[in-house]
Amino acid sequence: MRKPIIVGNWKMNKTNAQTKEFIEAVDSKLHDHADFGIAAPYTALETATENASNLIVAAQNVHFEPSGAYTGEVSVEMLQEINVKWVILGHSERRQYFNETDADINKKAKVLLDNGITPIVCVGESLEQFEAGETEKVVRTQVSESLQGIDATKAKTMVVAYEPVWAIGTGKSATQEIAQTTCAIVRDELTNLFGEDTAQAIRIQYGGSVKASNISEYMAGEDIDGALVGGASLKVDSFLELVEALNK
Ligand code: PGA
Repeated sequence: MRKPIIVGNWKMNKTNAQTKEFIEAVDSKLHDHADFGIAAPYTALETATENASNLIVAAQNVHFEPSGAYTGEVSVEMLQEINVKWVILGHSERRQYFNETDADINKKAKVLLDNGITPIVCVGESLEQFEAGETEKVVRTQVSESLQGIDATKAKTMVVAYEPVWAIGTGKSATQEIAQTTCAIVRDELTNLFGEDTAQAIRIQYGGSVKASNISEYMAGEDIDGALVGGASLKVDSFLELVEALNK
């Protein structure tokens, strides 16, 4: 049985003060039916880890090199020093605006897993690819190229998030059927890479305009083990509504 996991991706939102306020309002209201987390901007991560007892705290990116001349980047050791144990990798906004490739994500995933940090690896097709019927091909390629060469035992702890780019921040969520079908494709590709045992252990999230009113429908899909939530994770009330929707 895979435990559901809901992670709020705050993107470039929230100062330290806002992060502290959010965590104080939310952290004690979680329950054991699911894991809950937030991915804060770099500057607010230490505030987040210092204030969260129950919430998972994730970074939104990391560099794969341990140190060096990479202006503007942050290393695994820097995240470890402030107790960050989770990192989102390959979000479509990073792929789209910062030219992140499957090869980069692969290097980052390996470095994280070697250091005991859990990656949440994002995949998903663009609107153009969706309309051209290329979803399966695109998603299989992203999964296999970003996760190739990873040790199957280490891979078990990982989370993969399927987020169709056309559903992110648009209010146009994918139908439950599309989400489940594609998450099943992700799991099939994970089986090809790591074998049945590991593929069954890896949690797969759906992401794209998830909110309290539609999360239960997605979670009913047998390959959907949670959600990566943008907009609806920013306000305390809407985050707690998600928490409540999972409280059964
Ligand atoms: P959204 O974002 O929930 O605002 O669509 C999801 C994401 O980018 O992870």
